[in-house]
Amino acid sequence: MGEKLKDTFGRTFPYIRLSITDVCNFKCGYCLPNGYFKPNNHPGFLNINEIENLVNALSDLGVSKIRVTGGEPTVRKDFFDVMKLIKSKDGIKKLVVTTNGYKLDQLAGALIDTGVDGINISIDTLDREKFKEITGHDRLPEILKGIKILQDKGFKNIKVNAVLLKDINDTKDEFDSWADFINQNKINFRYIELMQTGDNLKYFKKYHQSAKVFKEYLELNGWSNIDRVRDDGPALNYINQKSNGTFGVIAPYSKDFCKTCNRLRITAKGELRLCLFGNTGTDLRKYLQNASQKEELLNLILTQLRFKKESHYLELGNTGITPHLASIGG
Ligand code: SAM
Ligand code: SF4
Repeated sequence: MGEKLKDTFGRTFPYIRLSITDVCNFKCGYCLPNGYFKPNNHPGFLNINEIENLVNALSDLGVSKIRVTGGEPTVRKDFFDVMKLIKSKDGIKKLVVTTNGYKLDQLAGALIDTGVDGINISIDTLDREKFKEITGHDRLPEILKGIKILQDKGFKNIKVNAVLLKDINDTKDEFDSWADFINQNKINFRYIELMQTGDNLKYFKKYHQSAKVFKEYLELNGWSNIDRVRDDGPALNYINQKSNGTFGVIAPYSKDFCKTCNRLRITAKGELRLCLFGNTGTDLRKYLQNASQKEELLNLILTQLRFKKESHYLELGNTGITPHLASIGG
């Protein structure tokens, strides 16, 4: 799968992260601390016809998994239509979404009805006050209620992601509260190391914490790494005989992180980004206007892939053209 999309380092790309909006209602300190502002001359986000032409081409290239992200994808008025459209494409075997879950209690049922195969929910802490400080919104209860509704309806593939933040959520108490939560709710939880972006250098310097802290906690508390073959993307996964849940760590600054890269990104304005922190984007939008442009679109994507670099060089402070992850979908 995804064999047509192969780069010069032998990596294949069966997985696309498709952002459908840059807009977000949250103000996460590391991402959009002042909220989303619409720039002047905004061309608008890909409309549903453009998305359909794009997904048809991706499917022809062997893409089998699409993650819909943003900004906050659920703020888009036609969010459910976009999800159903992607799900209707035969080649796309897995449709997943990443959301801040702010209305999950209201959206859970309709989300399941789209046929979505997996839902990633971002929750940086289970402490309501801290959650409010990090995101600018007191929405934790709705998000947790949403998870409960999804589970009561029998939906299983839920992952919770948190950004690891120094002196905020990197303590044993925080780790213990997640251990209880994932055990009770049979959930897969991952900490992501904070990444430096164009806009967040000050925040990054203050709050970046190495994922080592959490790995040490896992080792001391009976969790074992289960990754024999690193073929499912860049997360390290851990299990514990005493728990119904699983833990994971995503450490973008670790050596070899990019070796298992299996994803490309497309922004909400239709730019192909070969790397989260690349220096260029390729405008696909002009080839998304008409279904008849598919051959040109396929050729453009295949040609661009030859330029994918071996690493993000993030450890050298290179953040490319990514001001914040809301502009590319994380
Ligand atoms: N709004 C949705 C959400 O928060 O889940 C989807 C988009 S958000 C950009 C995708 C993921 O990127 C979230 O899990 C978020 O926590 C993470 N993220 C944002 N900025 C980050 C940063 N600088 N470093 C690491 N993760 C980041
Ligand atoms: Fe919004 Fe997600 Fe960025 Fe937070 S991380 S500001 S929820 S896009």
